[in-house]
Amino acid sequence: MGLVVQPQPDRAILSRRDAIVADLRRLLGAGAVIADEDGRRAYETDALTAYRALPLAVLLPGSTDEVSRALRYCHQHGIKVVARGAGTSLSGGALPSEDAVVIGVSRMSRVLEVDYVNRVARVEVGITNLGISDAVKDSGFFYAPDPSSQLACTLAGNIAMNSGGAHCLKYGVTTNNVLGLKVVLMDGEVIEIGGTHLDAPGYDLLGLMIGSEGQLGIATEATVRILRAAEGARPMLLGFDSSEAAGQCVSAIIAAGIVPVAIEFMDRPAIHVCETFAKAGYPLDVAALLIVEVEGSDEEIAELLSVISSIAKPFAPKALRISQTAEQSAAIWKGRKAAFGAIGRISDYYCMDGVIPLGKLGEVLVSISHICDKHNLKVANIFHAGDGNLHPLVLYDANDAAEADRAEQAGHEILELCVTSGGCLTGEHGVGIEKRDLMRVQFTETDLAVQMRIKTVFDPKWLLNPSKVFPLDGRKAAQEAA
Ligand SMILES: Cc1cc2nc3c(=O)[nH]c(=O)nc-3n(C[C@H](O)[C@H](O)[C@H](O)COP(=O)(O)OP(=O)(O)OC[C@H]3O[C@@H](n4cnc5c(N)ncnc54)[C@H](O)[C@@H]3O)c2cc1C
Repeated sequence: MGLVVQPQPDRAILSRRDAIVADLRRLLGAGAVIADEDGRRAYETDALTAYRALPLAVLLPGSTDEVSRALRYCHQHGIKVVARGAGTSLSGGALPSEDAVVIGVSRMSRVLEVDYVNRVARVEVGITNLGISDAVKDSGFFYAPDPSSQLACTLAGNIAMNSGGAHCLKYGVTTNNVLGLKVVLMDGEVIEIGGTHLDAPGYDLLGLMIGSEGQLGIATEATVRILRAAEGARPMLLGFDSSEAAGQCVSAIIAAGIVPVAIEFMDRPAIHVCETFAKAGYPLDVAALLIVEVEGSDEEIAELLSVISSIAKPFAPKALRISQTAEQSAAIWKGRKAAFGAIGRISDYYCMDGVIPLGKLGEVLVSISHICDKHNLKVANIFHAGDGNLHPLVLYDANDAAEADRAEQAGHEILELCVTSGGCLTGEHGVGIEKRDLMRVQFTETDLAVQMRIKTVFDPKWLLNPSKVFPLDGRKAAQEAA
């Protein structure tokens, strides 16, 4: 891999590295600055491991004030900054550059306040996604967005990528569950946006900030919605002879007005790998598997599962199994949530993330396998079928440079296919560097110019995560026009 070209580092900044590190130590204290090579090595990549760069230094501030001091200094001295949570981004969003300082928020992970009456929690954004639910679960509450990486990934990264997860079909993604943010702008100014309510007066700056991939400011605190956990939940497995039948069944469930908490899809290669890993009881003689979960009281669950079974019937499911125990339900989800890791045990993979209209599921999956066949590569498909968010995993050997390039090329063709099918370049993993040069497939030059002008308003010198999201050419005009 390596088809995405990165800009050359700023030599003048590199030559001042020692002085910059000394200044940052004075500003934040020596303990908050990592400057040695071994320490910086831990931050050279994220989950898109094909791309790496050793950052100038790594800062681990412990408060909003420290983030503000660091940004003000970097702004004054023209030093690039890449914000970082846990580094699980699959699109290279947290990839540093040699002339950039990484600001990690992992030390800022406290729960500041929980208000059960108004169902909100105020937290520092370095908390892990699962850490929020863990903090409120004894009172019967949870934080809804549940990326499969939730044990490790931070709310900071979730906010920047507008992350989703299996259960977002019913509860929405990050943008639907974050009500307020404290953000430090590149010049060190601290702003508060949104609040504790679903809407706030003025421009929707919260909507702008969520999903902005660390390009407009560094979030330090967030007010999130916490929801009361349902009385119960139960998944069922529906196995089909073809992906088309599974896709049609998903469309029929949604069209019937039923909103399960989750509808997840796996194709045959994914089913086999995940079953070996999790012993979840997935049927092995089917071409496509749906995990459909509903929740409510025992009576509601029974009623919903019965309706879904009837809806599935015309699509001739080869397997229809309803989880009977909490252990079975846990195993079903263990297999799904560990799917990327389980596939990683048998092969390197390039994880794609695109969205398609639900009605096109069958034909798009066929086209994806044609693309992979053309490049002589295997593919496994695991995704959030309820909202059309595909995650084809293109398998390749990372030690074979030519094969890695073919995997990346196949991935780009798959993303183009998503857009030309009426969908979108990213469902939840963001643009990062991975899809940066594909943005023109989705947007016109005018669309991109307007988006870049917004970046320029918040970050006039383009110092915040600058090599991501927007194609490298065409930026100058946008900067001058702003
Ligand atoms: C095995 C696996 C499974 C995954 N499953 C899912 C899934 O189901 N759903 C999903 O949506 N994603 C998934 N992901 C992708 C990834 O976990 C998410 O994008 C996650 O939100 C990244 O969080 P992070 O803390 O690791 O952020 P990082 O990777 O550290 O950073 C991500 C982006 O956030 C920016 N950022 C970090 N901190 C801040 C801040 N304080 N202020 C502003 N910007 C900031 C960074 O600059 C970068 O652009 C998965 C990844 C892996 C490896």
